[in-house]
Amino acid sequence: MSDIEDHCTMLKKIGKIAKLPVAAIGKSVTLLLHPMKTIEQRDFSNIVFFTGAGMSAESGVPIYRGKGGIWGSYSIEEYACQEAFERNPEKVLAFHEKRRSSVLDCTPHDGHRVIADMSCARVVTQNIDGMHQRAGSKEVIELHGSLWRLRCQSCGFRKEDFGEKFETNRCDCGDWLRPDIVWFGDMLDAVVMSKASQAIGNCDLFISIGTSGTVWPAARYPDLAKKSGAYCIEINPEPSGDIAYDRVVEGAAGEVLPELFGVSRR
Ligand SMILES: [Zn+2]
Repeated sequence: MSDIEDHCTMLKKIGKIAKLPVAAIGKSVTLLLHPMKTIEQRDFSNIVFFTGAGMSAESGVPIYRGKGGIWGSYSIEEYACQEAFERNPEKVLAFHEKRRSSVLDCTPHDGHRVIADMSCARVVTQNIDGMHQRAGSKEVIELHGSLWRLRCQSCGFRKEDFGEKFETNRCDCGDWLRPDIVWFGDMLDAVVMSKASQAIGNCDLFISIGTSGTVWPAARYPDLAKKSGAYCIEINPEPSGDIAYDRVVEGAAGEVLPELFGVSRR
């Protein structure tokens, strides 16, 4: 590899160059762009980070959907719906203990830490793994619930539980405690949805990370932020193509976020 190619590889990693296909000659042309323009955090008073599976995958958290995803090896009908839990709660709980174990093997990356260090940042996430909280984020709206919480389906009691194994799988009322996550066929929590819409509708900087944005309600969030007057950025190794974004950075959050906000990586 030549010095120039080497340099291009490095720049591409940090999102400073773009590759444009040139159909006429059947090749791609690499354009060198200016160094990444940093975002001044003090210019914004309400920042919302909207994160999806890609954010956690950078830390090694197994993904659920797509190539190599958990749903390629496990059947949703057997492990991730209310009917499955009613048929065999112990089997479903054991599956979720495995998920907890694999998340505990991972650590938050620099992108998680940059977000956690911002006092005016809120997180809306599709992830259930609690990685933002482990990095130190306080305000996290979890659209799909949490692997680290259980709830009683009879009396509504909720219990946080952060170990690999569940401390207990029974509520004091006698019923089973189920993972407090949104399984297939479950309704999204209306209160959580409302909090997310409010946060996004009131932000002045919206940064989407590692989500294709194709699943509802994620699909409407960039547009909601844009219509509310927020500056909208997408960070993704595979950008969604959504036209609501003012800026798209192709790359991994752990590399892009420190540079975007001008903070050093740890
Ligand atoms: Zn109960």
